Amino acid sequence: MSSIQLGDKEFVPYLSEEKILSAVRDVAAKVERSYSGKKPLFIVVLNGSFLFAADLLRNFSFDCEVSFVKMASYSGTSSGNVTELIGLNENISGRDVVIVEDIIDTGNTITKIFEKIIAQQPSSVKVATLLFKPGVYKKNIPVEYIGLEIPNDFIVGYGLDYNGLGRNLRDIYVIKKQHNPL
Ligand code: 5GP
Ligand code: MG
Repeated sequence: MSSIQLGDKEFVPYLSEEKILSAVRDVAAKVERSYSGKKPLFIVVLNGSFLFAADLLRNFSFDCEVSFVKMASYSGTSSGNVTELIGLNENISGRDVVIVEDIIDTGNTITKIFEKIIAQQPSSVKVATLLFKPGVYKKNIPVEYIGLEIPNDFIVGYGLDYNGLGRNLRDIYVIKKQHNPL
């Protein structure tokens, strides 16, 4: 693996495809242990989670269903930004839901999604994320299944983008730190 350029930024190798897939298999095994005999509904948060979800689901061998959602954000009339969860068309009341996220940073996004899903009265809700930044997370939503904990650095690849680029990369890269000559 060598460093790459995406737009105006340089990124250096951080997690190999092999390491990522091993973390994904670990998450799938943990989820399987919790849901044996049940039929979980995986709710995948687009766009960043599409590759993680594909590999997670291919490693989940029991009956399950999958649905895809997106957070849409628009300017409200007076009270600033309004967020909406779009794409969830089925009735989830009484279901065992697993929210599938690519990365949890401050936790703002997952908190909003969690609240909107809970409001539809599923039987249970758990969160599975490939990447988690424990140094920045400042919310109370329990994150049950974590692939890898990472420091507070900006990463791309395996679904995650920088200005739309990099989602197709098989490995994960971290933004190159600038030297500040004094
Ligand atoms: P949070 O709301 O937890 O602060 O951030 C969640 C969202 O911010 C993620 O779903 C992702 O879209 C974006 N994000 C957070 N950290 C990173 C990162 O290191 N790289 C990329 N590409 N996106 C990130
Ligand atoms: Mg995400």
